[in-house]
Amino acid sequence: MALIVQKYGGTSVGSLDRIRNVANRIKTLRDEGNQVVAVVSAMGGVTDKLIAMAKELIDEPTEREMDVLLSTGEQQSIALVTMALHQIGVDAVSITGRQAGISTTGSHTRGRINAINPDMMKNYLKEGKVLICAGFQGLREDGMIHTLGRGGSDLSAIAVASALKADVCQILTDVDGVYTSDPRVVKDARKLPEISYDEMLEMASAGTKVMQSRSVEFAKKYGVVFEVRSSLNNNPGTIVTEEHDQMEAVVIRGVSIERSQALVTITGIPDEPGMSAKILMCLADAEINIDMIVSNIAYDGLARHSFTMHSSDLGKASAALKPCIAQLSPDSTILTESGIAKLSCVGIGMRSHSGVAAKMFEALGEAKINIGVITTSEIKIAVTVDEHQIEDAARAVHEAFNLDKAPTA
Ligand code: ADP
Ligand code: ASP
Ligand code: MG
Repeated sequence: MALIVQKYGGTSVGSLDRIRNVANRIKTLRDEGNQVVAVVSAMGGVTDKLIAMAKELIDEPTEREMDVLLSTGEQQSIALVTMALHQIGVDAVSITGRQAGISTTGSHTRGRINAINPDMMKNYLKEGKVLICAGFQGLREDGMIHTLGRGGSDLSAIAVASALKADVCQILTDVDGVYTSDPRVVKDARKLPEISYDEMLEMASAGTKVMQSRSVEFAKKYGVVFEVRSSLNNNPGTIVTEEHDQMEAVVIRGVSIERSQALVTITGIPDEPGMSAKILMCLADAEINIDMIVSNIAYDGLARHSFTMHSSDLGKASAALKPCIAQLSPDSTILTESGIAKLSCVGIGMRSHSGVAAKMFEALGEAKINIGVITTSEIKIAVTVDEHQIEDAARAVHEAFNLDKAPTA
């Protein structure tokens, strides 16, 4: 008998038929003698619909009320999955984030899990019940309902698996596993048998939305090995785990894309200590997440900085920067550009192989795709390109590194 924690995403519970399918899968595991805790997302599209409704009522809904609203999506689906289980004779009970003992911290809509008290879950499991737990939500220290950021049910599942010391943790979704690139964009993308936490984390934060990045960080920190697999078949998925020696033989594990990016460039910044900090501080005060940062060496005593961010933050960023820049220097200007996307190559093999950037840029050049900003980390090279070229860019780079073919040992 094993304790299995599973997570079912929005598409997997997207209709009553899909919910029946989930119930049958859970029943099979139960009939085999396992204990099962299933963390469930809102039905596909529900969270987006709730956001759209809020924005029809008011331009800037408060984040507190957004948490109250968005957490209802998961509450619908846990009750429906539990009812489907009752219908086929499984003794199941639904539990909210609060009942699962999930304590959170941080700003509304961007919660982080800081502790789990699994007592209620353990008691129910002892009674022989299957647990259907709401993903994406917890209770903040001050008693407020709190959500964990988009895709946050992944984090709920990993954290629950860690708190219960589960034998198995599975993220069930609408693809068979983690692919070398988004299979909707790159048709010959290949399913990876395994990937290291660090690679999965870099890919997730570079736009590979099959896993929420914070959930991977949590899994790495607490050593939760998990598998990403399909809720629609029984094919083996992708194991996400600690890196081992053979992994480094592969130069590039995957290619990630992230759309809807924007670039802000500030020119005419006095070349003095502390200027960059002041600019970044005013973006941080406005709670804007910036991604790539490029700073040019000063010319004639004036420097220029560029940042990328999600395009939905562009208006807020310009508004926050205007007064700050006016104070720094009367000569500074703010230039903005939207309609860009980010392409990232990720692989721990980059640490021991050279020429990766050259090969990536050559592939883009041959495909007539212009590169904007470039940043690198130890295991990632990222570039911006025009958003309308991002799919061609991903295919060109995927092909250049032969990612459709399994590496030979
Ligand atoms: P869920 O609703 O189950 O949480 P998501 O929509 O969040 O599922 O994530 C699954 C989707 O992630 C897939 O449908 C796929 O299009 C997308 N995706 C992007 N990049 C990858 C990748 N490299 N491997 C697998 N899926 C990917
Ligand atoms: N329902 C939330 C979302 O759509 C959380 C999740 O699905 O993981 O982002
Ligand atoms: Mg998801």
